[in-house]
Amino acid sequence: MTEVFANLTKELAVVAGEIPGWYQEPLFWLFPVGANVVAFAAFVFMAVPLTLLALWNPPWAQRFWIQNRRSASHHRIVRMSVKQLLINFSTLIIFSVLSWPVLRLTGIHAGALPAWYVIAGQILLFAILDDFLYYWLHRTMHTNPFLYRKIHTVHHRIATPLSISGNYMHPIEFLLISSMILIGPILVGAHIVTLYLWVIVRQWEAAEQHSGFQFAFNPAHWLPFYDGAVFHDFHHSKFYGNYAGLLSWTDTVFGTRSNKYDEYMQNQRRTELTSVEPPEANAASAASAN
Ligand SMILES: [Zn+2]
Ligand SMILES: [Zn+2]
Repeated sequence: MTEVFANLTKELAVVAGEIPGWYQEPLFWLFPVGANVVAFAAFVFMAVPLTLLALWNPPWAQRFWIQNRRSASHHRIVRMSVKQLLINFSTLIIFSVLSWPVLRLTGIHAGALPAWYVIAGQILLFAILDDFLYYWLHRTMHTNPFLYRKIHTVHHRIATPLSISGNYMHPIEFLLISSMILIGPILVGAHIVTLYLWVIVRQWEAAEQHSGFQFAFNPAHWLPFYDGAVFHDFHHSKFYGNYAGLLSWTDTVFGTRSNKYDEYMQNQRRTELTSVEPPEANAASAASAN
């Protein structure tokens, strides 16, 4: 017994001695540090112009604005969102750096770059997988009272989100979603560039879905089952249903698509409105930021 303990102690000492060397590996800077820097920069790059557009509110953009419910001061929403964005990314960077001894074993690499079609196919796979997992995580956060009260309610403090609110959530939810984004890349042992491109796509999703704008000239409308920002905006106004992240097929298949949302879409088609205004907004569901 004493000998086993002595051997174990010796092995742990060897591993502990190797740890500083792991943090000298180039992939440490490219993966846990680099991927988070790329994600943060991509989100800021996309969310800031869309947020400024909402604050500026020029006449040409008003026809694309989809919120007509009562809102907290936009400036207050921006302040809350920026503060939480910095808290969440700081937490994520610390968590990622501490997880490096495990992350370095995942197969994500910086070797030879795969062909473009391999990269494109992998990103498509990541998007479909992540969207499916996000749906169930999000739905569970609403159906489990403990998770909703303690964690997800933070995201719903902002009922009239701006693009910069895309990462306004409890740090635990942010860590869960950020970890989930890595599942696809880890499963295929993705190249680091593929990972960078994927996190850019994922941050575009967060920025676009909360933007408050439904642009007619958004090429993402070519995606099947893509409803645009209005789908998730309805979720923020109603708190129930429309749990999908990007593609709405999950809510349709699993029976959580908002009836009011469908009524609105039918109304929109019937009247051929060019601007989008959720008709069911009410004071209760339009609770402003706390
Ligand atoms: Zn929600
Ligand atoms: Zn949201």
